[in-house]
Amino acid sequence: MLNRNANLANLKAGYLFPEIARLRRDFAALNPDAKIISLGVGNTTEPILPAINHGLAAGAQALGTIEGYSGYSDEGLLALRERISTLWYKGMFSADEIFISDGAKCDIGRLQLLFGSDVPVVVQDPSYPVYVDGSVLIGAAGAWIGTGYKGITYLACTEENGYFPDLSKVPHNALIYFCSPNNPTGAVATKEQLRELVCAAQESGSLIVFDAAYAEYIRDPALPKTIFEVEGGIDCALEVNSFSKSAGFTGVRLGWTVVPKTLKYACGARINSDWSRVVGTIFNGASNIAQAGGLAALTPQGLAEIRELSDYYLGNAALIRDTLLNAGVSCIGGDNSPYIWAHFPARDSWEVFRELLEHCHLVTTPGSGFGPAGESFIRFSAFGHRAVIEEACRRLAAYYTSLKGGWEKSHD
Ligand code: PLP
Repeated sequence: MLNRNANLANLKAGYLFPEIARLRRDFAALNPDAKIISLGVGNTTEPILPAINHGLAAGAQALGTIEGYSGYSDEGLLALRERISTLWYKGMFSADEIFISDGAKCDIGRLQLLFGSDVPVVVQDPSYPVYVDGSVLIGAAGAWIGTGYKGITYLACTEENGYFPDLSKVPHNALIYFCSPNNPTGAVATKEQLRELVCAAQESGSLIVFDAAYAEYIRDPALPKTIFEVEGGIDCALEVNSFSKSAGFTGVRLGWTVVPKTLKYACGARINSDWSRVVGTIFNGASNIAQAGGLAALTPQGLAEIRELSDYYLGNAALIRDTLLNAGVSCIGGDNSPYIWAHFPARDSWEVFRELLEHCHLVTTPGSGFGPAGESFIRFSAFGHRAVIEEACRRLAAYYTSLKGGWEKSHD
């Protein structure tokens, strides 16, 4: 018999979403007539819009012809990489600094191979779980010790610090995961804050993995959509991005990672060359059909559709946020992000989760599942059909009204 990879045994059991699914199943079994609505997950719900969908279909059709057939393309279609550089980064990167992927999450997992198990890892707390779980899998983080994994530095993002962490605790030569717009808090870092982040990375000899998967939800023109808008970012950051939440490609699978040639290891070797090696070794490139869809998404018509789709989810987010605020629940996010982060002071996240399931038949996500600083918070996701979101908001409003004066008064 083979030994189990010891790192797998370090992963905490009862991962957030399976636990939520279990509680939902149990509740549905006891309440078969309840019409449960989920505001809990980040999966998209709306159809892919016509110009982008046509690109996908045409990509599939082309594969049935001699002229249109294509096979492997490890680092991605040249035209797609060039288009991404032009549209997202004002042409500041050459095509060989942009790697097309099957999604941001997959690349975040693979990126750890570049740094091995000895690198100190820093995350925002709360954070998207894959940064932490990927670190555990590669052995860069050890066993669960009470409120976090051994070897990971958690930087608390709280109401008090405006959801931007104290960076003085960043260790030397660390890998810093930073997500903006943030999942789960919905907070978006300002340019000044990203400047601070870049300075902290430069001073500590660290590297930032900047996750910009929700950049297309930013509506405030003053907010940066990429770490490369900040001077010095090119010297200390790589960036992952995705078509999932902008074009509705959660199931199609397409993303990209920018690895500037300026990035070097301590030994002087280029990180870009190693990433090319990793991609060629364990990933044979994104689907060519998905890439045809990606190209269509980056035409003027496709970009208008990205705007239309993200506007739709932002409309949902505004409905949820306004409902919560009217009920006296303090929350952030939902304006430049599809997530709303709601605060229920002094309450246990799972207890609030159960209360909303029981009284409103709503599935949400307990904030504590994203890290210790998420305790007392609930994440509401705006991914859903409009009519369903409206019904969820009606239930929330009715519940909090029934508590006579909203959440705050009833829980003093
Ligand atoms: N990054 C963040 C912050 C996310 O929330 C998600 C998905 O929810 C991803 C990455 C995954 O993106 P992809 O679908 O491209 O793998």
